[in-house]
This record gives sequence, C-alpha cells and structure tokens, in this order.
Amino acid sequence: MGSVAERLESVRARVAAACARAGRDPSGVELLAVSKTVAAEVVGEAVAAGQRLFGESRAQEAEAKIPLLPGRLRWHFIGHLQSNKVRRVLPLVEALHGVDSLRLAGHVARVAAELGLFPRVYLEVNLAGEASKHGLRPDELRECLAEVLALPRLEVAGLMAIPPVAAEPAQSRPWFRALRALRDELAARTGVPLSGLSMGMSDDFEVAVEEGATIVRVGSSIFGRRQE
Ligand SMILES: *Cc1c(COP(=O)(O)O)cnc(C)c1O
Repeated sequence: MGSVAERLESVRARVAAACARAGRDPSGVELLAVSKTVAAEVVGEAVAAGQRLFGESRAQEAEAKIPLLPGRLRWHFIGHLQSNKVRRVLPLVEALHGVDSLRLAGHVARVAAELGLFPRVYLEVNLAGEASKHGLRPDELRECLAEVLALPRLEVAGLMAIPPVAAEPAQSRPWFRALRALRDELAARTGVPLSGLSMGMSDDFEVAVEEGATIVRVGSSIFGRRQE
C-alpha cells in the first residue's frame, strides 16, 4: 500500500493526468484529503507531505482533532450537519459541503452572523433521488435557490453530490455530467456563477475531474481503508 506520502503523491498524479486528458488547468482542481476516522498523527504525515486542505464529516471528531494539528491547515466539513452542531463546527472550517435544505442554510447564515463569519457552502444535490441519501432533489433546489442566494453571510460556492454506488467509475460519469448541467442551468438563471463542483471520491475522482470537478474529496486512497 505504501506510505501516506506515497499514496498522496499518486492521487495528485492521477488528478493531474485526468486534468491533462480533459484539457484542464490542474490549478482548477483542489484535492480535499478526507481524514475522517484517521488519527491526528496520521493526518500529520499528509501535512508533512505538503497537504493543507482536509475534510471531516463528524462534528465531535472535528472538534477533537482539528486543535491537535497545525493552525495553518484548512478544513472543510463534508458530512451532513445537524442544526444543533452548526455553532461548534462553523468556527473550525472554511466551507460546508453538505448544506441540503433552505432551513439549514438559514440556520448557518444566522449563526455565521452571530459569530462574525462568512462561510463558503456547497449545496448538496441528491441527483438520483435516493431515499438513503441527503441532499436537495434538483427540483427542490430550483425552487429554493433564490432564497438561499438571498441569505446574508453565505458564499454559495456551488454544488456537491455523491452519485449512487457504482461497480465501475465510468458509471458515475452521467451523474457528474448531470451535476454540471444543473449548475450551468442554475448559473444561467440566477447570474450567480456557482463555479464550485464538489464531486469525486476515491473510486471515481478521475472521472469527476474529467467532468469538471473543482474539488475532489478523497479519503481511503490516501489514508487506506477505514474500519467502520
Ligand atoms: C468519506 C467521504 C468521502 C471520502 O470517501 P473515500 O471513498 O474514502 O475517498 C468523500 N465525501 C464524503 C461526503 C464522505 O463522507
């Protein structure tokens, strides 16, 4: 399996190769190293290898781990965020990837105002309408987007999605295309660029980059299989 540094290097090379295939500038794709369930010392190996951007998906774990690591790191919260955890998580991270309702967005905006913060948010889309997944269905997003964009304090960076589980990375391609098309439609309609596309995980990040991802969330390919 190699060291964290070696795996990180390999993921970076694969992102760069996918950019080259798609004719994209590699500076347009950020690698978010998903460190959920990974001990702070192991996250430190990725830091030593030059990684600065990390993602956590559980509030309690983020609160415990982030203070153990250097203050110069950047953190994103990628999981489903319960309203009652917003106040604890917001001061620790620069972006939230799992904002999946107008109600949650409104709550984040209120707490951000109280704390004096301007968080970046990605609106999570449930592309396939899976009952097991969080996220706004495309029609719900169309309906509430204007209200979300009118909220103070939030910088709506773009859209995020986790496509249905697939046997082959190529099976995720239509979903990534659909997220991008939805973004293009909404950007044209609102005049807000929504330029961020948070899509692609260990199994399919290269396809996501080919389809326009601006940030890929990669965990197990860097840190090894999680014991969950
Ligand atoms: C765990 C997780 C990831 C990373 O998954 P891997 O398959 O380990 O790369 C990405 N995004 C979200 C929202 C996650 O919860």
